[in-house]
Amino acid sequence: MAPAVAASARQSASGRERNFKDKDKPDSVRNSNIVAAKAVADAVRTSLGPRGMDKMIQSGNGDVTITNDGATILNQMSVIHPTAKMLVELSKAQDIEAGDGTTTVVVMAGALLDAAQNLLSKGIHPTTISESFQSAATEAEKILEEMSSPVDLSNDALLNKMATTSLNSKVVSQHSWLLAPMAVTAVKKIINSDNDTNVNLKMIKIIKKMGDTVEESELIEGALIDQKTMGRGAPTRVEKAKIGLIQFQISPPKTDMENQVIITDYAQMDRALKEERQYLLEICKQIKAAGCNVLLIQKSILRDAVNELALHFLAKMKIMCIKDIEREDIEFYSRILGCRPVASLDHFNAEALGYADLVEEIPTGGDGKVIKVTGVQNPGHAVSILLRGSNKLVLEEADRSLHDALCVIRCLVKRKALLPGGGAPEMEIAVKLRNLAQTQHGAKQYCWRAFADALELVPYTLAENAGLSPIHTVTELRNNHANGNSSYGVNVRKGYVTDMVEEDVVQPLLVTASAIKQASECVRSILKIDDIVMAVR
Ligand code: ADP
Ligand code: MG
Repeated sequence: MAPAVAASARQSASGRERNFKDKDKPDSVRNSNIVAAKAVADAVRTSLGPRGMDKMIQSGNGDVTITNDGATILNQMSVIHPTAKMLVELSKAQDIEAGDGTTTVVVMAGALLDAAQNLLSKGIHPTTISESFQSAATEAEKILEEMSSPVDLSNDALLNKMATTSLNSKVVSQHSWLLAPMAVTAVKKIINSDNDTNVNLKMIKIIKKMGDTVEESELIEGALIDQKTMGRGAPTRVEKAKIGLIQFQISPPKTDMENQVIITDYAQMDRALKEERQYLLEICKQIKAAGCNVLLIQKSILRDAVNELALHFLAKMKIMCIKDIEREDIEFYSRILGCRPVASLDHFNAEALGYADLVEEIPTGGDGKVIKVTGVQNPGHAVSILLRGSNKLVLEEADRSLHDALCVIRCLVKRKALLPGGGAPEMEIAVKLRNLAQTQHGAKQYCWRAFADALELVPYTLAENAGLSPIHTVTELRNNHANGNSSYGVNVRKGYVTDMVEEDVVQPLLVTASAIKQASECVRSILKIDDIVMAVR
């Protein structure tokens, strides 16, 4: 009897132990999740702000990218840990929603995770932390709205300042005098009126061509087509152009199914060839009859969009032919050229054509060429930008930077309000939230304070990256904000704390608001995970 009791006692003790161990597991999973995500955030922290560093990213096949853009860095980084991947997704989400602030959002998430880790170690339950962070983030958004000021879209100078702020931190920042106004003009050209609430950035076509410097980039009043003409004696310059855009092919038709035509003698072959010739000639004649002298042909995956013989006919008829127009560009070209895409020959008539004063092929250095269309009669809301750069690295980064600037202007169209930059909004939220925390009870108060402190990492990092004393700068900034100077921020050029609005460092409300919202949401979902389960497949 006695040994059995002892055995069962031992068993229950080991059972308790197991229980105890199981309780430990969520904590360790949570901890490792936080550590992994924080490592990602730390990796991009040094590239925040105008004095931030750039990253050189080397891919497996030896390609090199130099960038300062958070989304690009994270996108190309190979991360394995599932929660680290969440931060990559976070940055992508910010890129889609706002387009700028992709580093900021990750830095914020890292800071909030750090705060959460401290709170967890104090024994506060993850759910309490998560709920408090949510209510603090909601409050933060209200504070941001209060401190924002309205933007008038007709104020170009102001829009310029905002585009410049976003370009400040880029490798190509010395060209912001050119790129910022370009972004403003481009977006303004494609929005219909002041009450538009979104911008379709697809209607701004950026064509990158190596050669020259970024300074030679230009916004084209008209269209650019990143193709060459097909040559074969056809004109490379057409005045008073009538432009047709076709989605059908000018090549011998194919049967729907795998059929074979067996030719047994020369006479039959001759007939087949003649037939083909006749068929193509008929199409070309009809195109000419509609008055078309510049023909854009959509890329085809089924068969050749246009074959040699057809090109020869078109050249004879003095029709400039441009093939391989991508399917997704059709809408863009039809808008900018004022022509209607035609899917079948029967509908190819004069009404479908667009008119332009001049279509010409221009060299862009090396053997690069683009086709430039100017003097378009009925341009829709679309623009093209020719971006130049002396090498691939600069050119690609210029493209990404210009995209950021365009997104900033799009943010303003979406939500017409601005904030001072340089860490001012983050500090203002921190100061106000710390005051509001007094109204919370128990552990929640702790969490609110931790949330507020975490946001100070943005001005802290801006100062740190600019080589200033971060502690000194942040305390001074905190002091200023407590005294009601809500637009004070870190002046990275002068090296102290000043009014950011006077320094022309302003940014859209949407960028910061979305960063705070997304960062806190991401941190909350990381906190709620208590186990990682491997799937069978
Ligand atoms: P993100 O990818 O998040 O946009 P950036 O490297 O572009 O990161 O840095 C953005 C931050 O830099 C913002 O907080 C912005 O207010 C700040 N900033 C931009 N220009 C200046 C400036 N001239 N002085 C101080 N802060 C600036
Ligand atoms: Mg930026």
